[in-house]
Amino acid sequence: MLVADEFQKQANFDSLTNLPNRSLATDRLNQTLVKAKRRNLKPCLAFLDLDNFKYVNDTFGHAVGDALLKEVASRLTDCARESDTVARLGGDEFLLILDDENTVKNEKREIGVRHIGDRIIESFEKPFIIDGNELKVTPSLGFAIYPQDGDDSETLMRHADTAMYRSKQEGKNAYCFYSPDMTAKAKMRMDVEEQLQHALERKEFSIHYQPIIDAKSGNIIKAEALLRWDCEALGSITPGYFIPVAEEAGLIVPIGCWVIQSVCSQVKKWRDAGWDDICVTVNVSPYQFQANARLIVILEKALQDNDLAADAIQLELTESIFTKGANNVAETIKQLQLMGIKLLVNDFGAGVESLSLLQQYNFDSIKIKRSYIEKLSTSKKDEKLVKAVIAMTKELGLTVISEGVETKEQLDFLIAEQCEYMQGYYLSKPVSAATFSSLDNDEPYVFVPGHIPSQESDTGRKQVSC
Ligand code: C2E
Ligand code: MG
Repeated sequence: MLVADEFQKQANFDSLTNLPNRSLATDRLNQTLVKAKRRNLKPCLAFLDLDNFKYVNDTFGHAVGDALLKEVASRLTDCARESDTVARLGGDEFLLILDDENTVKNEKREIGVRHIGDRIIESFEKPFIIDGNELKVTPSLGFAIYPQDGDDSETLMRHADTAMYRSKQEGKNAYCFYSPDMTAKAKMRMDVEEQLQHALERKEFSIHYQPIIDAKSGNIIKAEALLRWDCEALGSITPGYFIPVAEEAGLIVPIGCWVIQSVCSQVKKWRDAGWDDICVTVNVSPYQFQANARLIVILEKALQDNDLAADAIQLELTESIFTKGANNVAETIKQLQLMGIKLLVNDFGAGVESLSLLQQYNFDSIKIKRSYIEKLSTSKKDEKLVKAVIAMTKELGLTVISEGVETKEQLDFLIAEQCEYMQGYYLSKPVSAATFSSLDNDEPYVFVPGHIPSQESDTGRKQVSC
């Protein structure tokens, strides 16, 4: 090959996959748009991002990651038509320019695009076999169609990216078409991310504590720490919204560290005041299990600084640590248990791996997923399931906490099934540390709802629903 040709190739093609790179893809998109204007066509731009690619890279190494990207490039090329362009933008991001040359006359453009979306999703169903490893990765796609979603390449790219982002938020392994309301949502997310960067230094976080009650004695046995964010600029934002943003923005590790330190210093105060056996459960994100997150060091220091034993704090893990977490999850769990820290499975029953996790690791308790408790009075199936989970968990020597107990009927059912611990709005909403301190634990009050505060303390700030 001539030097000039080689130079040309390097400038326009991705060296790993041999697909057009961002620069050539942008040129092709511009050409496609010129043609579309002239001939009244509706080309579509598709943004594709792989789900869990980072996990593959972290777990199996970069060589396997690279081989996987090559395979993905080849499957995508097979899904596209010859007149389409498949490009790699970098990392695990791909772009497809789907021209409108062969669309059946008068067929709605979305229909043709849907076919391609389905074909791409389907093509990822078969695992990728790389170096003897069977890898399951899925794609998230976003579509923006010319001219309705933008009439220049820059707008179309931005909108296809926004739509792809929506696919991720809606559970991944999916495609979404751009719609203008996504821009407002994307802006909200960006604002939240920007504000989150300063939330710790501005001291905007606080922790609320929700009592967990022993069904036998009626006493508070422990509390769950639930993070609250009262943002100066945006108002109160729910953790269900901001925690995933913090995770994606790489902010969850320092935030999680702050939660652990604050909880330990609070438990110390309660214990010093005579509440000797109180302990607090803390939710931990999968990202806190990555090696550089130093979860063990953070916990050891927080316990040491407050002169607390390991029984002061327990960790709530979700099954997603095993898919999103780094490859040292098993090792970290072992170390936590050596330290004497008890582990709970949060949202038990949310994923298909629940049972095998109990088999593999020594958890102390499980929390039955709220949605099962919610449907107790309306679904016989859920009733049977909850009964079976309680029985099975006891058989395994684990304790069971029912989360989201909202009614007397639910409480009665769970007591009859001998569920040991209860948590939910019927008993108490999460409350500030000060309110929690004033809860009288000498008298059992569980079965007298209203005895303990049922309202989350009002900060007086406006609420933002995200
Ligand atoms: P989760 O761990 O499943 O926590 C329970 C959620 O259910 C809390 O929502 C709690 O306020 C709510 N809840 C409790 N009882 C009831 C009830 O009877 N009815 C209803 N409808 N809801 C009830 P919250 O505080 O909004 O937290 C949502 C999620 O955010 C938590 O779910 C947890 O996954 C996450 N989260 C909260 N704090 C932290 C934190 O410090 N770190 C991390 N990584 N995640 C956190
Ligand atoms: Mg929890």
